[in-house]
Amino acid sequence: MSPEIADLLRREGPLPLARVMAIAADHYYATREPFGVAGDFVTAPEISQMFGELIGLWLADMWLRAGSPAPVILAEAGPGRGTLMADALRAIGRAAPALRAALSVHFIEKSPRLRTLQAKAVPEAAWHDDLSTLPTDAPLLLVANEFLDALPLTQFERVEDGWVMRRVELTSRGPRWDRSVGANLAFLPAEIRDSPPGSVHERNFGAEQVAAAVARRLAAQGGAALFIDYGYSGPATGDTLQALKGGRFADALETLGEADISAHVDFAAIARAAAAHARVFGPQPQGPFLQAIGLDDRAEALKRLASLERRAEIEAARVRLCAAGAMGRLFQVLGIVGRDWPVPAGFPTLQA
Ligand code: SAH
Repeated sequence: MSPEIADLLRREGPLPLARVMAIAADHYYATREPFGVAGDFVTAPEISQMFGELIGLWLADMWLRAGSPAPVILAEAGPGRGTLMADALRAIGRAAPALRAALSVHFIEKSPRLRTLQAKAVPEAAWHDDLSTLPTDAPLLLVANEFLDALPLTQFERVEDGWVMRRVELTSRGPRWDRSVGANLAFLPAEIRDSPPGSVHERNFGAEQVAAAVARRLAAQGGAALFIDYGYSGPATGDTLQALKGGRFADALETLGEADISAHVDFAAIARAAAAHARVFGPQPQGPFLQAIGLDDRAEALKRLASLERRAEIEAARVRLCAAGAMGRLFQVLGIVGRDWPVPAGFPTLQA
């Protein structure tokens, strides 16, 4: 655990998990290099340029079929190293130069250290601490990959005589769960209330708020958004809080502020929050989504220009992005579309 978080818990603890997780994530992204082979985890845009390129083409297709409105805001929440956006912009520049000329790039990023990296990848970007300062006077195209999973999670636990809200406490023997505060039952779906003691139910209020805020903007401004993350479609019980350090799972409480901390995204909850304001498509597993929007063709095109060794790498990346045993099934894609904007590519068309 980082000394700052230990101090805070000694001074003010026990504290709700969501509060501790927010501080731990800020500290982690401000001080560590999370991404890539030398970092703590590898994300889809860092696996292959194909990922960002295909997202860029998905956005360009939406924009063209929406009648090419100009100007347009292209935003990314939690851009990491800026790789996805750099790849998307290159693909947009080739496939839809009119969109490239009409867009302005906006990054939602809190970490000053990551902003510096992002500025190297995408010098033209403007930065925001959160969604609220994004411009409102043009349609919005937004993408967020592995952003919702990093937002502060609330966990409820079933104990002998009811449900409690998990808080984190620092004892002389290390961090542990405090279970002394009762849960507000309004937050627990009826079907899980009778789960046995030890059961954990999760809500990510921050992620739900982000989805609702984006959907409200799409309804008002027009546009489309993609949220991509690993997760499930609730209601479920289960503790999905996880920490990754050097590519391995670590104890989330022991490594607060020093490891990447995240949780599975409940896409049913995210979809519900967004559907109150705009049309929602999916969640659709990442593998079928990427294949429906041209992953295999893009891989073939890249392979034709590549050396034998490079070809094998491209094929390995393609499989990693879409195979069920890799990222293809655990990762899900949710589309949110504003009024008068077209049905998006990549989702089964009967869903709406
Ligand atoms: N999308 C990137 C990075 C994912 S990591 C990729 O796929 O590689 C999560 C990103 O979200 C980081 O850039 C992190 O700094 C940012 N982030 C996390 N919580 C945030 C918050 N509350 N507000 C703004 N950015 C946040």
